[in-house]
Amino acid sequence: LIQLYLPLNFLGFVYREMKQGLVDMEAMFTLMREHQEVADAPDAKPLAAGPGALAFEGVRFGYRPNRTILKGVSFEVPAGRTLAIVGPTGAGKSTISRLLFRFYDVQSGRILLDGQDIRGITQASLRAAVGVVPQDTVLFNDTIRYNIAYGRPDASEAEVVEAAKLAQVHDFVLRLPEGYDTLVGERGLKLSGGEKQRVAIARTILKDPRVLILDEATSALDTRTEQEIQAALRGVSAGRTTLVIAHRLSTVVEADEILVLQDGQVAERGSHSVLLAEDGLYAQMWRRQSEAVAAAEAAAAAQQAA
Ligand code: ADP
Repeated sequence: LIQLYLPLNFLGFVYREMKQGLVDMEAMFTLMREHQEVADAPDAKPLAAGPGALAFEGVRFGYRPNRTILKGVSFEVPAGRTLAIVGPTGAGKSTISRLLFRFYDVQSGRILLDGQDIRGITQASLRAAVGVVPQDTVLFNDTIRYNIAYGRPDASEAEVVEAAKLAQVHDFVLRLPEGYDTLVGERGLKLSGGEKQRVAIARTILKDPRVLILDEATSALDTRTEQEIQAALRGVSAGRTTLVIAHRLSTVVEADEILVLQDGQVAERGSHSVLLAEDGLYAQMWRRQSEAVAAAEAAAAAQQAA
């Protein structure tokens, strides 16, 4: 009976959450994965304190046994540094972030956070240490204050405002009819993609994770939104170990190191200038993107002139 009860109870929980309109993808995925993919080791320990040094060592992984996605990927991100991962769609970039969040376990190799294999630490402490700013944020049907403080429900008003300022969303909130008490989400005020993203960044600043994963939006944003988001991202990633699943030239250029992933392997690595000088895959991608940006700017200028 317990075998039937547990899944039913879980489904009931999911249903109640959805009914309340509490759509939080991160928590939801965490929950569902916990029931499917990975479990705490019997002797799992909480993650010990550290500055946030991250390492992948010869990581091999596939979602299915007959198809390997990552074929021995190694890299190190020293504490406080930023690594940008670029590469064609399907290369395995997002898979790297899912493995770091431990939605799945590696098939061989290991992932170390401050020298600790993430398979040996509790998932709760791992997930408290890793913050994600997703491509698309779903807001709760609640106040903007609640949506920001969700990263740390015990945060004081001053801390919420401080995080909102760093995330470049404070001035926007002050212009709302009821400020931080304004209801947002599907049943409240609808925010633009850029505004939602900055709320997500404020949430992450409050969570204060040791390691940050930025999953950049692929869709084009207007220049002003782009600049506001970039400024907000600088606020959250400054001095913090950051892994960027990168689509935007600006973040890539500023990264301490760039990893070019192709077909599940590291094809190139180095700084922007080093990779340009090598004139390989990265240089090719850079030229193509620069041309696309220039063409878009020319089209916009022509439209304005007409
Ligand atoms: P990228 O982020 O570089 O575009 P991903 O890491 O998302 O690539 O995906 C790498 C490969 O793994 C793709 O071929 C994709 O189809 C496959 N893949 C991603 N997620 C899953 C999944 N949950 N189950 C099976 N295959 C998946």
